[in-house]
Amino acid sequence: MSNLSFQKMKKCYFLKSKSFVLFSLIFSIFFIGSGFSLLENKSKKPLFVVVIDAGHGGYDVGNECSDLKKFKQEKDVVLPVALQLGEYLENLLENVKVVYTRKNDTFVSLEKRTEIANEASADLFISIHANHNPIKNIHGCQVHIHNGNIKFSKIFAQKLMKQLSERAKRKVLKIQTANSRGHNLFVLQNTKMPAVLLELGFMSNPNEEVYLNSEYGQTILASAIFRAVREYREVAQ
Ligand SMILES: [Zn+2]
Repeated sequence: MSNLSFQKMKKCYFLKSKSFVLFSLIFSIFFIGSGFSLLENKSKKPLFVVVIDAGHGGYDVGNECSDLKKFKQEKDVVLPVALQLGEYLENLLENVKVVYTRKNDTFVSLEKRTEIANEASADLFISIHANHNPIKNIHGCQVHIHNGNIKFSKIFAQKLMKQLSERAKRKVLKIQTANSRGHNLFVLQNTKMPAVLLELGFMSNPNEEVYLNSEYGQTILASAIFRAVREYREVAQ
């Protein structure tokens, strides 16, 4: 190697290392910068508290299944959906606090359920149930709210219906209000935040009973509710 080419190489290496330093600098500014903005976004999202209320529990089995050897009672159908929903919310959304009224097979009174929600200053209350009707043909999800003019309960109920229909491909029945039902539902009447009571489907319908008892069905339903909460948060906060 001649002295000249050695000089060239040195210069070239020097330039390369210089551009490498420059590149690293830009790279780190970019990434540290975006890191900071991620942190900023995280702290910008105010805390969102969701109370998940798995209906019934303990000696209160809720609606009974058609065959205890094959299927579960309402209290055991709704609990895994409630727990899965909570997991999605905690793992996939930032700054969300999930409060359960029950996480296992215990009896919790209706008064206690509303007390838990009110004391948690929840942003949203979701009560999860499964329906029953003597007419076996009747099927579909149904969302109950206390009253049609409670703006945010209605907004969430509509998002829930949309997700259940489009995402979960379930039949959805009309939103029921205290007026259309003709009676109040305790947990909706006594919670101070936007609140819905969701009937996941009819245990009295043979097809829906199979779906409600399947891990597949429960995952799809939990995922649809999760998506509705995520969408709702964007407009509510
Ligand atoms: Zn129920």
